[in-house]
Amino acid sequence: MEPPTLPDVLDAQRLLARHLPPTPVWSYPALDAAAGATVFVKHENTQPTGAFKVRGGITLLSRLDPAARRQGVVGYSTGNHAQSLAYAARLFGVPCTIVMPERPNPAKADAVLRLGAELVEHGATFDDAAPHARALAAERGMRLVSAADEPDIIAGVATVYAELFAQQPHLDAVVVPVGSGSGAAAACLVAGALAPGCEVIAVQAADSPAAHDSWRSGSLERRANRTAVEGLATGSGFALPQRMLRSRLTDFVLVDDDQIAAAQWRLLRDAHTLAEGAGAAALAAVLADPDRFAGRRVAVVCTGGNASETELRRCLAVGAPGTTASAAAGLGANLARL
Ligand SMILES: *Cc1c(COP(=O)(O)O)cnc(C)c1O
Repeated sequence: MEPPTLPDVLDAQRLLARHLPPTPVWSYPALDAAAGATVFVKHENTQPTGAFKVRGGITLLSRLDPAARRQGVVGYSTGNHAQSLAYAARLFGVPCTIVMPERPNPAKADAVLRLGAELVEHGATFDDAAPHARALAAERGMRLVSAADEPDIIAGVATVYAELFAQQPHLDAVVVPVGSGSGAAAACLVAGALAPGCEVIAVQAADSPAAHDSWRSGSLERRANRTAVEGLATGSGFALPQRMLRSRLTDFVLVDDDQIAAAQWRLLRDAHTLAEGAGAAALAAVLADPDRFAGRRVAVVCTGGNASETELRRCLAVGAPGTTASAAAGLGANLARL
C-alpha cells in the first residue's frame, strides 16, 4: 500500500469542491490570551457530518469501481468514520453497513441510521468491532473500509491541510489530534509539500497511547485503550499513517482526558464552538505546553463537534472547575434543550 501523493490530494480537492464548502479558520482573542500564542482554529466541526472524516469517505467512495459500488461497503468506528461512510454511501447510492462498539454515542448512532446505513453493534471497543466488521464484509462480499490504512481516505483528509495552508500560509505549527493517524499523516504530507517550515505536532489521549507509542518505537504497538474520548480511542497503530508520520512528524505529545475536557470548555466559552473531546485535543496540547508555543502562530484542528450529552456534562463539570455548580447545571440544561 503506497501513501498518497500531492497530486492525489489536489484531485481530491477538485472532487470535494463539488460536495463540501471549505471550512472556516478563525482566531479568538480570549484563546490567544489563554495560550500566549496566536491560535487559529480550523473548524472541521462545521462539516455536514460534524467531523473532518467526511472528506475521506467521499473521496474513497467516489473512486470505487461500479462492481464495488453495487456490493457496498462495511466500516467499523466509534462514530465519525461511520458517519463519513454513511454520508458518502448515500451520496453515491452505495449500500453501507457500520459496526460500532456496543452502547455507542447515541448522537453518532442515530446519525448513521438517519443516513440510511445498516448499524450493527458488536464488542466493547473499537478493536473488538474490527474483526466482526471484517467477517461481515467477507461473508457479504462487501468492501471493508479501514479508518486509516486507505490511501484514498488519507488523500481526502489531506484537503483539510491544503485548505488550511492556503488560508494561513505563515504558520509555525499545526497541532493534529490522532486516533488512527490518518489526519496527522495527511498533515505531514501536505506540510512537507506546501509549508516546509511548519511543524506538525500530533496529540493523542494518554489513556490510549497506541499511535504515540508506535511512532516513538518505530513499530506497530498495541496498547490499553481506556480514554473516554471517542475518535482518539484506538488500541493499535495503523501501518500506512505510521509510515507517513515517521519521516515528517515534528513531535507526538499526550494529554489526559481532563485536559481535553478543559480545552473543550474553553472552546465552548471563548470560541463559541461545540467541540467533541477529540476536536478539543489539539487546543489541550497547546494549553499544556505554553513555553513551546509562546508568541508563535499555531493552528489547531477542531476535528469534530459530535459530543454526546454525557460528554457535555463532563466537560462542564471537569472543564470549568471555577464555575459554580448552579451555573454549570443551568448551562447544561440549556444545552440539553438544544
Ligand atoms: C477520527 C477522529 C480523530 C482522529 O483522527 P485519525 O485520522 O483517526 O487519527 C480526531 N478527531 C475526531 C473528531 C475524529 O472523529
